[in-house]
Amino acid sequence: MITITNLHKQFHALDVLKGISLTVEKGKVVVIIGPSGSGKTTLLRCLNALEIPSAGSVQIGSVQLDFSKKAAKQDILRLRKQTGMVFQSYNLFPHMTARQNVMEGPITVKGEKPEKAKAKADKLLTKVGLADKLDHYPAQLSGGQQQRVGIARALAMDPQVMLFDEPTSALDPELVGEVLKVMKELALEGMTMVVVTHEMAFAREVADEIIFMDQGVIVERGTPEQLFAKPKEERTRQFLQHLK
Ligand code: ADP
Repeated sequence: MITITNLHKQFHALDVLKGISLTVEKGKVVVIIGPSGSGKTTLLRCLNALEIPSAGSVQIGSVQLDFSKKAAKQDILRLRKQTGMVFQSYNLFPHMTARQNVMEGPITVKGEKPEKAKAKADKLLTKVGLADKLDHYPAQLSGGQQQRVGIARALAMDPQVMLFDEPTSALDPELVGEVLKVMKELALEGMTMVVVTHEMAFAREVADEIIFMDQGVIVERGTPEQLFAKPKEERTRQFLQHLK
């Protein structure tokens, strides 16, 4: 479903991604962990071309982009449409209800009819446990509820893969669980997911594969059992030790 080949990203003189290659099969959940500044967010943002990689290629579903040539805007939009992204800050439109927030993308980007978009929004908001909050504005919702609207909003675009960038980092501890639960359900339904998170219990339970990144490279990858119990690399060991 996803193939990343020799991806590089530089910000001015700074090499943030130094040749990342990775494949994710359909229906798999990959969790990316690593110290702050190791390039996790940048990798995720390169996957949907929110950041344009300096070199390398990204293929998601039927769309492939080679960034060693200048990418056409049209191709970037095609790649972006393959993915749904959930951010640390939910960035909902404050003047729109939960339902309107979820309907917005399908109507403006995909040209869906309002009735269809509304039915889909209601279905997705019900799925994330917000059937009774359809007409609430973001300010009337808790952080966890807003983030669940964020997930429904991303799903409304019918993405091939879901990208999560520290989706629970901004939440009060007691609200983290409700968001992770929705993510877990999505994984069980067979959604292909790439998740950057510090929630190691979630990673252990839900990930098919853990990627440990440091300083712009993939240091080590493996199943949760392998990586958490028997890390091969010293850098991985050190990182995991600091978490304890
Ligand atoms: P992580 O998600 O692992 O914390 P990031 O991908 O956010 O790491 O950042 C990796 C490095 O790239 C950091 O040194 C960060 O300062 C730098 N960086 C990220 N985005 C930009 C940007 N837009 N401009 C310049 N430097 C950036």
